[in-house]
Amino acid sequence: MAREYLKKATLTAKSGSSDVHETVKTILKDIEAGGDAAALEYAAKFDKYEGAPLMSEDDIAEACAKVPQKLKDDIRFAYDNVRRFAELQRGTVHDFETEIVPGFVTGQKAIPVDAAGCYVPGGRYSHVASAIMTVTTAKVAGCRHITACSPPHPGEGVAPAIVYAAHTCGADRILAMGGVQGVAAMTFGLFGLPKANILVGPGNQFVAEAKRILFGRVGIDMIAGPTDSLILADETADAHIVATDLVSQAEHGYNSPVWLVTDNRELAEMVMTMVPELIEDLPDVNRENATAAWRDYAEVILCSDREEMAATSDEYAPEHLTVQAADPDWWLSRLTCYGSLFLGEETTVSYGDKAAGTNHVLPTSRAASYTGGLSVHKYMKIVTWQRATREGSKAVAQATARISRLEGMEGHARAADARLAKYFPGENFD
Ligand code: NAD
Repeated sequence: MAREYLKKATLTAKSGSSDVHETVKTILKDIEAGGDAAALEYAAKFDKYEGAPLMSEDDIAEACAKVPQKLKDDIRFAYDNVRRFAELQRGTVHDFETEIVPGFVTGQKAIPVDAAGCYVPGGRYSHVASAIMTVTTAKVAGCRHITACSPPHPGEGVAPAIVYAAHTCGADRILAMGGVQGVAAMTFGLFGLPKANILVGPGNQFVAEAKRILFGRVGIDMIAGPTDSLILADETADAHIVATDLVSQAEHGYNSPVWLVTDNRELAEMVMTMVPELIEDLPDVNRENATAAWRDYAEVILCSDREEMAATSDEYAPEHLTVQAADPDWWLSRLTCYGSLFLGEETTVSYGDKAAGTNHVLPTSRAASYTGGLSVHKYMKIVTWQRATREGSKAVAQATARISRLEGMEGHARAADARLAKYFPGENFD
């Protein structure tokens, strides 16, 4: 049986329009030319914020004092998990050296980038968890300068819980500035900030486009589109849990796709009945997002067996992939394209989004077919080095000279010849 669409998306998520591109290009140009003053003008225009952009120690302490103790404990719990997970990742990056031919040593070193700029979205929701995910990972990687940057709210500044999270996780500076102006300030080194070597973190289409345009001049973690999620469910799945999980991810935004892939028609039909009911019960903004996302972008796909379900999932390469089906080990070994995998009903994407320890900055728009999400590795430069004895350079020099001449690169060949002539005078190396 070929797979059957019980519900098909009418729209496809796009990561940026030409309008957004032009807007962002203009803002970046203005800020590069106009510096601090231009960034402040855009902050006033887009976020109605006139306060100091860089938070002082007193500002940070004042914001932290507003955070209820229970929330502080929760942030610390999530931070501990993300930090411990990141530390294990850091342990997998090894420096090494090897004598590749006698007398010739080559090596690898992992060097953290010096300055990281962590964007913490804060327009629609206060993405406290994004501060935890980006700042903690940069700190564990060993970045010397970490700036957290998040949109301020008029008269209030950055949400206190974001300030507490960024500060707790190790941010050296907190910039109260959102959108393109925040990204620009970190990249161009405005307000006395160190110029970022890498920009990380999710954000809306303006933030994503700014990172895309600046890429090359500065490193980025990834180009993020709208968040997306896929659930693989068989007859063992609980329809109510499946529907709840789909709704939890549809609330991200009006264009956040959620997909259900199943081999059980009865389950699919139950879920399709439940989802609109669950969405109806959400608070206003969340309901609007989820309604549009479910109506325009969601899909329910019926497959003949689990092999076809897995193949479909790999084709969609979702950011978040949930398996609520028998034999989780089979799925773990079979599936190859996802940002983060959630095996079994006992865990859910929300856990990974907030507190379980794995990173929530993940590849969207099928980028999971070629990359994973944010990890300490994104902040590390894997560089190489070499040194040789005169005897060790002999064989390498001869091969280098011949390959260079074949390529027509005479200057390269002579760099090798010069050493052969100096170290082994009188020998013939044709
Ligand atoms: P945001 O912080 O990304 O953007 C807010 C900023 O957008 C404002 O400060 C403002 O400067 C700018 N802006 C708004 N309208 C503008 C306009 N017309 N022109 C230029 N700039 C403008 O917050 P948001 O808007 O709430 O978006 C958050 C995004 O982050 C969502 O898309 C969400 O899905 C995403 N997110 C993704 C993940 C993930 O891991 N994939 C996690 C959390 C959040």
